[in-house]
Amino acid sequence: MSTRFDAVVVGAGPAGASTAILLARAGWSVALVERQRFPRRKVCGECIAASNLPLLDALGIGEAFSRLAGAELRRVALMRGRETIVASLPPAEAPAHRYGRALGREHLDALLAAQAEAAGATLFQPWALQAIEGSAGRFRLRLRTAGAPGDACELEAGLIVAAHGSWEPLSSQRAVLRRARRSSDLFAFKANFRSTSIPQDLLPVLSFRGGYGGMVVADEGLATLACCIREDRLKHDREARPGERAGAVVEAILRGECSGVDAALGGAVREAPWLASGPIRPGIRLGAGDGVFRVGNAAGEAHPIVGEGISMALQSAFVLASLLGTRRAALVEARGAGEAQQRVLAAYEALWRVRFAARLRIAAAFAHVAMRPRAAQALWPIVHRWPGVLTLGARWSGKTRCAPEAARLAAARAASVTA
Ligand SMILES: Cc1cc2nc3c(=O)[nH]c(=O)nc-3n(C[C@H](O)[C@H](O)[C@H](O)COP(=O)(O)OP(=O)(O)OC[C@H]3O[C@@H](n4cnc5c(N)ncnc54)[C@H](O)[C@@H]3O)c2cc1C
Repeated sequence: MSTRFDAVVVGAGPAGASTAILLARAGWSVALVERQRFPRRKVCGECIAASNLPLLDALGIGEAFSRLAGAELRRVALMRGRETIVASLPPAEAPAHRYGRALGREHLDALLAAQAEAAGATLFQPWALQAIEGSAGRFRLRLRTAGAPGDACELEAGLIVAAHGSWEPLSSQRAVLRRARRSSDLFAFKANFRSTSIPQDLLPVLSFRGGYGGMVVADEGLATLACCIREDRLKHDREARPGERAGAVVEAILRGECSGVDAALGGAVREAPWLASGPIRPGIRLGAGDGVFRVGNAAGEAHPIVGEGISMALQSAFVLASLLGTRRAALVEARGAGEAQQRVLAAYEALWRVRFAARLRIAAAFAHVAMRPRAAQALWPIVHRWPGVLTLGARWSGKTRCAPEAARLAAARAASVTA
């Protein structure tokens, strides 16, 4: 097997697998490195906004997604305390995909990784990136396989795309990101339930002291309940319930503080253990100065309250591919490829900020309100009187919007497939 690639993509979540598909189709030799075995469950609300469904079509998994995913999500609900306010979700423009849907990450990520292989990428799984050496044009990546300690290999790459999500920084960023834990750090939890009473077309958003969350019915009627909770709130409640696992404590908080959750889970059965991740620290992670391109959460993460992370992962992959796609020779083969990469990296990072930075700010504002009882209390009468504010909020958070570069690339693919 070759160990020299035009591009190595680290992480086969939605961002990485999409990048690998698009670059491989554009004629790049691509390695896609993923440390976990698929299929695997993942902490995520699993909703994909309608504006991204044409991107899934373009990636070649649209049909499978349509077959597997839950019902169209046409309504949003805000649940807080004993009250629930319901409003319409805004439809997207694409006639074939007006509303978002939800699909378990064990399905979505496996579909995308398989598609990357089908497009010609070489999948290294389960292999974890350990270290990067060299510089743009001549990178060396040390990998270790998760299964067998001591089993290591080295890849050479002209260009690196980091798509490793948000939990673990690359070695070049560790020193910057490793800082003291803060009580405001968020921990993320998810569980799946059968036989809930959540209406199939409803997307409930949960607001409670020190956190926020969401529920949705995804594939095969399986409901996903996911949330983020501040470390200090979790610690406080765990102290009050000694011996209980964190997931059980989180479930008790959600049931106790959002009666809509309690009602929805009334006769439900949890399918598998609660999953936990974190701490999550939403924000922009560009500008590391290491010559590495970043997509998805590795580039920047919005507070999950808006459920836009998969969308941003997919769209950022398309935005990057629109800049890299046709320039393979200049960026990895030509003399001066390293300098050419630096110029494209600067252009990409600037474009990323234009397309996504506002979404991060809006998500942070929503999260701020949802987690703070006083702020939520102050705004509640307005939302109660004009539930359309929720529809507007969904629109602002990006549910109907797609980065133009991504939409163009997807449209070009659709045209070439039908021609
Ligand atoms: C509670 C919660 C609810 C959410 N709900 C939603 C929602 O409803 N809708 C939505 O759109 N988004 C949601 N999100 C956000 C969404 O999950 C993320 O934004 C999305 O997964 C980002 O995709 P990604 O490809 O960038 O990273 P990831 O999906 O995290 O994928 C990164 C991959 O890289 C791999 N990896 C990491 N390190 C290495 C390494 N060193 N070597 C090799 N591989 C590595 C990981 O194993 C992983 O598979 C939610 C998030 C949370 C926390």
